[in-house]
Amino acid sequence: MKKIVILGAGTAGTMMANKLRKALDIEEWSITIIDQFKTHYYQPGFLFIPFGIYQKQDVIKPKADFIPAGVEMVFETIDIVDADKNQVKLENGKVFNYDLLLIATGVQTRPEETPGLKDKLWYNKIFDFYTLEGALALQKFFKTWQGGKLVMAIAEMPFKCPVAPIEFVCLAEAFFTEHGMRDKVDISFVTPLPGAFTKPIATKMLSELLIEKNVKIIPDFYIERVDNDAQKLISYDEKEVDFDALVIVPVNMGADFLSKSGLAGDLNLVPVDKQTLQMENHKNIFVLGDASNIPASKAGSVAHFASEILMENIMEFIEGRELKAKFDGHANCYIETGYGKGALIDFNYTTEPLPGTFPLPGIGPFGLLKNTKINHYGKIMFRWIYWHILLKGKELPMKADMSLAGKKVQSY
Ligand SMILES: Cc1cc2nc3c(=O)[nH]c(=O)nc-3n(C[C@H](O)[C@H](O)[C@H](O)COP(=O)(O)OP(=O)(O)OC[C@H]3O[C@@H](n4cnc5c(N)ncnc54)[C@H](O)[C@@H]3O)c2cc1C
Repeated sequence: MKKIVILGAGTAGTMMANKLRKALDIEEWSITIIDQFKTHYYQPGFLFIPFGIYQKQDVIKPKADFIPAGVEMVFETIDIVDADKNQVKLENGKVFNYDLLLIATGVQTRPEETPGLKDKLWYNKIFDFYTLEGALALQKFFKTWQGGKLVMAIAEMPFKCPVAPIEFVCLAEAFFTEHGMRDKVDISFVTPLPGAFTKPIATKMLSELLIEKNVKIIPDFYIERVDNDAQKLISYDEKEVDFDALVIVPVNMGADFLSKSGLAGDLNLVPVDKQTLQMENHKNIFVLGDASNIPASKAGSVAHFASEILMENIMEFIEGRELKAKFDGHANCYIETGYGKGALIDFNYTTEPLPGTFPLPGIGPFGLLKNTKINHYGKIMFRWIYWHILLKGKELPMKADMSLAGKKVQSY
């Protein structure tokens, strides 16, 4: 019996457990999936919690509900991988041998990496919304906040869901307007990027949107430390931003065991071939989702598109054939913009987000780089699709490769 071990039962690991179990003969291949936590979090839903749109029960389900029969689920923390011996060791000392290893342990927030961030103001006047506890603490804070300087800041690139902080300021703007206190809240968006987003055409559209909403963009700001007493963000070049309430995307890092195992580079991200998703030095190790260093967005949609390519390549690898399927970096992200509207971007390694219609050329129904109600419904529908289709490894009527059909290639 040959063995596949999947590390991490989040978005990527769960999708692959389902796809692999369907594709591989149960008499020939055993599949084991290992995760430290029993609860699956629908992370895109964390965005809505601070504003009371979603509650805790809207974003959690038991992980075990999504793991198919015929896959062994192990709840334990991974300690180390010995890639030369093809072994994974857990913190409880148990060892698993593998023929093929899939790393899908994602990235987690590390507030302790920024001096002063996890100090006395943490969950008092400083919050994140990238964890369930952070999003819930912020919901509680907003219920009684009287207003002041609200700063949304990004600690370091890359981080998962690069549009989430933009969505956060849009929703905050709408929330305080609807609560009749917009004039009491001064909203700023602090980013290490030169603009609101990474690519020029989307940056122009999103910057204009934020300016229209009276959100101040503070670009090129690399946070060095947080001064809790003075309530200031301080950059490496000694620029300062005052806050009364700070919402931050802390440094995002892969799991420590990956560095301990000698498998990871910067920020504990695992280097892989960006097209085949295979490790260079360990051909029987593949990486899917946020855990790798591929230059694509860290997003569930990326993990979904990449999973189709990875399935083809794993089947080729098992048969001893050359890996032919190539991932193009396809990402598709709905951007919630407040007041029941949203925008949408669809792009890959080489094509930046362009205006147009999606998925049907000239029809849509979704508008690329447009602020529409139907895009908002796309975002809301995504949760159902996530639980019922994506996690279960089912097919969506959408190709893994990005299509140029419906996109206007000229400047926005
Ligand atoms: C606020 C927010 C909004 C988002 N919005 C969107 C969106 O609108 N659209 C979109 O496509 N994506 C969005 N994302 C991103 C999306 O959630 C992630 O990209 C996706 O979940 C990545 O999947 P993954 O499997 O790589 O990692 P995860 O789903 O994070 O899973 C990693 C798993 O590994 C486990 N693990 C880690 N270390 C260990 C260890 N040592 N031992 C055992 N288990 C371990 C963890 O417990 C976890 O279950 C958002 C994320 C956030 C935080």
